Amino acid sequence: MHSLTLSDPSLLRAHHFINGQWVAGQAGQALPVHNPALDPARPEALIAQVPDGDAADAQAALDAACAAFKLWRVRPAKERAQALKRWHALLLQHQDDLARLISLEQGKPLAEARGEVLYGASYIEWFAEEATRVYGDMVPAAVNGRRMMVLKEPVGVVAAITPWNFPLAMIARKIAPALAAGCCVVAKPAEDTPLTALALARLGELAGFPPGVLNVVTASRQQTPAVVDVWLASPEVRKITFTGSTPVGQHLARASADTLKKLSLELGGNAPFIVFEDADLDAAVDGVMAAKFRNGGQTCVCPNRIYVQRSVQAAFSQKLAARVAALPVGPAQQPASLIGPMINARAVEKIERHVQDALAKGARLETGGQRLQGSGLDGPHYYAPTVLSGVTPDMVLTQEETFGPVAPLFTFDTEDEVIALANDTPFGLAAYFYSQNVRRIWRVASALESGIVGINEGAVASEAAPFGGVKASGYGREGSRYGLDDYLHTKYLCQGQL
Ligand code: NAD
Repeated sequence: MHSLTLSDPSLLRAHHFINGQWVAGQAGQALPVHNPALDPARPEALIAQVPDGDAADAQAALDAACAAFKLWRVRPAKERAQALKRWHALLLQHQDDLARLISLEQGKPLAEARGEVLYGASYIEWFAEEATRVYGDMVPAAVNGRRMMVLKEPVGVVAAITPWNFPLAMIARKIAPALAAGCCVVAKPAEDTPLTALALARLGELAGFPPGVLNVVTASRQQTPAVVDVWLASPEVRKITFTGSTPVGQHLARASADTLKKLSLELGGNAPFIVFEDADLDAAVDGVMAAKFRNGGQTCVCPNRIYVQRSVQAAFSQKLAARVAALPVGPAQQPASLIGPMINARAVEKIERHVQDALAKGARLETGGQRLQGSGLDGPHYYAPTVLSGVTPDMVLTQEETFGPVAPLFTFDTEDEVIALANDTPFGLAAYFYSQNVRRIWRVASALESGIVGINEGAVASEAAPFGGVKASGYGREGSRYGLDDYLHTKYLCQGQL
């Protein structure tokens, strides 16, 4: 087993967090957590074991959240804000430990993991501030003596289900607005990365969250439906907030129909990145490097299809391939690494399948294109940062998210053509384009079917901006003032003549 030393060892938890207590799973089953840098068959790949939860654990968490909601919703907003501010300060104080946990269980390089801590913390700070600004409205009445008022109230108990690629940021940006609004949370983090979520719960405990306000139940992939189904079936869970794949999001939407829950679904993407001939090519290369290769390409807003106008295609491809070939790949804990291991065997196999399919159908390999092993890479989950050119719409990676360090380059001729290609996907999370022509900028920005558009910018996420998609990328927004609305409902009060 890997020996993990943290400066605060209490952040490494091996229990569910339910009703303010650290409790064993009622079924007594364990979920092993592995370091993705190593072959999971090797004993030192095991980082820790957490409970493999079941329906009884999910019910206990739900009961605790329901009881806590009665008290939390009526706490003055300022008190809820202060609890979130304490939580935020604790995250910053423990950022090195949190970064170590993230990089160890998820595989992103340490510096990037620290960036994730700060990014996740920024949402907590933002919603701590927003908590005190939940305004209602007075509506002018058509009848004298009548008063018409609009109030915002917390929706109730929220179930949060999160993916492995940002084990801290994804859950922080759900819990923070929920608690700010006055909701209580039952959370189920991804099976590959439960340790960071438990560490966050520990910091919530230290921040003085009342028992039951935040509950975390861990579970394996097999046991996850048993846990989540309890929450889906309960009329007391009023909202599901989910980040993950589109099929699971669709399942959650269907299963929420009977109890008509509110839903926020942050689902998969298939982001286009367009380089027009009037772009600053060096800036566009920087944009691809920032947007595509963060987290080894395992990001929902990663460009999955890079369209380059024919006259600049050769120059762009050369510049990009040179940058990508120089990306250092290595274990997440080594300071020099910029690309760590992929999350698991399934992920590497998908990348291999996509690249092989593209090559078989005529794509050209500019750099990379293979698994990496040996010379300091002591595990089976490393994949070389790759650039493919001559990619065409019949290749699998055009339709599906590759979720790895692969940049596929397409060639296009006209603006109309590339907009049609960019929108030719069921998804609509992020899109990017580079151009220095102001007229084109406004035309293209409005024509792209996407929740987020980066214009001459590859790093778009911010706690102050609404994050979310359209079409099969889901609905609901996280961050910004819009992010709080998803956890509130609107109540209309009509007072007659007194
Ligand atoms: P996933 O959908 O397989 O898993 C996400 C979560 O859902 C995990 O906690 C998992 O245990 C849970 N889950 C799985 N089956 C379930 C079921 N039957 N009932 C309830 N919960 C279930 O996704 P993943 O592979 O972990 O994450 C990658 C996906 O997430 C990609 O498609 C990526 O684009 C997407 N993503 C989207 C955003 C966004 O903001 N839109 C952000 C990050 C990742």
